[in-house]
Amino acid sequence: MENSKTSRTRKKCSFCGRFENEVGFLITGVNGCICDSCAVQASEIVKETAKQMKPSSMGFEMHELPKPSEIKNFLDQYVIGQDDAKKYLSVAVYNHYKRLMQTTDNNDVEIEKSNIIMVGSTGTGKTLLARTIAKLLKVPFTIVDATVLTEAGYVGEDIESLLTRLLQVADYNVEEAERGIVFIDEIDKIARKGDNPSITRDVSGEGVQQGLLKLLEGSVVNVPPQGGRKHPDQKMIAVNTKNILFICGGAFDGIERKIAQRLNTNVVGYNSVKESVKIDKNNMMQYIAPQDLKSFGLIPEIIGRLPILTYLNPLDRNALRQILTEPKNSIIKQYIKLLEMDRVKLQFQPEVFEYIVDKAIEYKLGARGLRSIVETIMMDIMYDIPSQDISEYVVTLDYAKEQMSKANISRLKNV
Ligand code: ADP
Repeated sequence: MENSKTSRTRKKCSFCGRFENEVGFLITGVNGCICDSCAVQASEIVKETAKQMKPSSMGFEMHELPKPSEIKNFLDQYVIGQDDAKKYLSVAVYNHYKRLMQTTDNNDVEIEKSNIIMVGSTGTGKTLLARTIAKLLKVPFTIVDATVLTEAGYVGEDIESLLTRLLQVADYNVEEAERGIVFIDEIDKIARKGDNPSITRDVSGEGVQQGLLKLLEGSVVNVPPQGGRKHPDQKMIAVNTKNILFICGGAFDGIERKIAQRLNTNVVGYNSVKESVKIDKNNMMQYIAPQDLKSFGLIPEIIGRLPILTYLNPLDRNALRQILTEPKNSIIKQYIKLLEMDRVKLQFQPEVFEYIVDKAIEYKLGARGLRSIVETIMMDIMYDIPSQDISEYVVTLDYAKEQMSKANISRLKNV
């Protein structure tokens, strides 16, 4: 009697019937309970059913997608200039969504994917563009570095490991990862050394490009879930790259010379009169063409798989000046915010900005150097102000000069 009374009052899972002491824990509802393992199973059922109910759903509808001009406007808030690259990126991302939404009707026109390659000197905003666009993407996105790659069997990472990060950001949901976007930085580092195919081994060059080609073309590859080298005992995850959009970026140091050579030969040639358009020698990148990438050492098959070629402009004085203060999270805005948290209103004499830009140009530090210069100027202020009782601080030109004169320039250059 006593026993049956206890069992009536003892809590049990309403799904599997196990008592509280037989399960991990019970979650109590209004009229019943559910144990931890039934909850996990229920959650799986919910996910599966949702998938079956919406077989082609991407988690977004066409009308919810930002239009290319909206994507560009968003990029404009964070990245100065680089209009061409922004437009190409915006259209590519938008078309990527469209591709994902297309129904696979046999008679239909199939939209092919258009991977992109962005060429621009270091520090002109390639990675920043990629990072910024990631903020509004509705698909998994990751940035990977091509420098670590080597041909299979050599020290370094296998090509397939490029997809490990994508799997990780997609929470190992393969289906999600298969429609993601991968930004491959420093693609120029896997260029073949020299225009002619080498007979000696070039483990970080052509072999890697051949491997990369497989990914770009779209194939099923085995990805090591934890990255690094493939171990025989590591369980691989098969990922189909058919719908993954690849955006590549690289500085291609010295490619301006190849562009100039090509333009020169063209001008001297038969069509010289027609082609004697004025060439802007300060920005050769804008004339980049696929054959320049080939002269640089990318194999034609790779170039063919990166049909959209765009470039970034070198940053001039004006651009550097804007970068300092205008982007939504510009360096100066970040410092103002930092001191705001100490209830101090930080201000700068406008000449300080000009001075910072001058120094960045003088030391050839580019946009990356702006931060280290500002940091040098601000270090003592950041150190002293929190323990002082002031509500306002103005950084003057004299102060900035004094701080810079104390600084170790070689350290600044180390950016
Ligand atoms: P890249 O990838 O081309 O070598 P990054 O995108 O990493 O260069 O740029 C380095 C830093 O310089 C960025 O974090 C940013 O602070 C600044 N920067 C570079 N280009 C721009 C730009 N066009 N607009 C705003 N900031 C920029």
